[in-house]
Amino acid sequence: MFLGPPGAGKGTQAARVAERLGLVHLATGELLRREVAEGSALGRRAQAIMAAGELVPDELMIAMLKARLSKPEVRMGFILDGFPRTLAQARALEAELGAEGVEAAVLIEVPEEELVRRLLARGRADDDEATVRRRLQVYREQTAPVVAFYRDQGRLRCVDGLGTIDAVEARLLEVLT
Ligand code: AMP
Repeated sequence: MFLGPPGAGKGTQAARVAERLGLVHLATGELLRREVAEGSALGRRAQAIMAAGELVPDELMIAMLKARLSKPEVRMGFILDGFPRTLAQARALEAELGAEGVEAAVLIEVPEEELVRRLLARGRADDDEATVRRRLQVYREQTAPVVAFYRDQGRLRCVDGLGTIDAVEARLLEVLT
């Protein structure tokens, strides 16, 4: 599981590390953007919420994740990117995975000024300044408790997210292997 604020590089790094380690990359934001592009019922519900930088309701996200985890291709292992974003999601994940649980919760740390700089440079639909600020606030309010949840259990590993993509990837591989 890769944790960290928007702009920390979770998506870029999860894609690389998953490829390197032969794992499936499960990115809930990507899955949602696909639903929006397809105009599915879920996509239509999620679109405005995502555009505002808010979180899609837990019940929808938990159902989406459970559906993914029941597919055969995740059996070889997976990296979660963008989930869990709330304590309720973290608890649902723990319940779903049972005794084995999550093998590693890795926090990618990047200072806030750098996050804002990166997100504004990225130019995604939800990357305008007001939405970026809101997404960072949502992270502090709703997702930081998830980080604390894994830290309190002694299961959190922290990685410095500053530097080149290759350098951060090397640090991640080091804490994972
Ligand atoms: P991301 O690509 O991870 O930055 O996600 C983009 C947007 O999708 C977020 O700002 C949320 O609106 C939504 N989203 C992605 N994952 C979740 C999640 N686990 N819970 C709630 N909303 C999510």
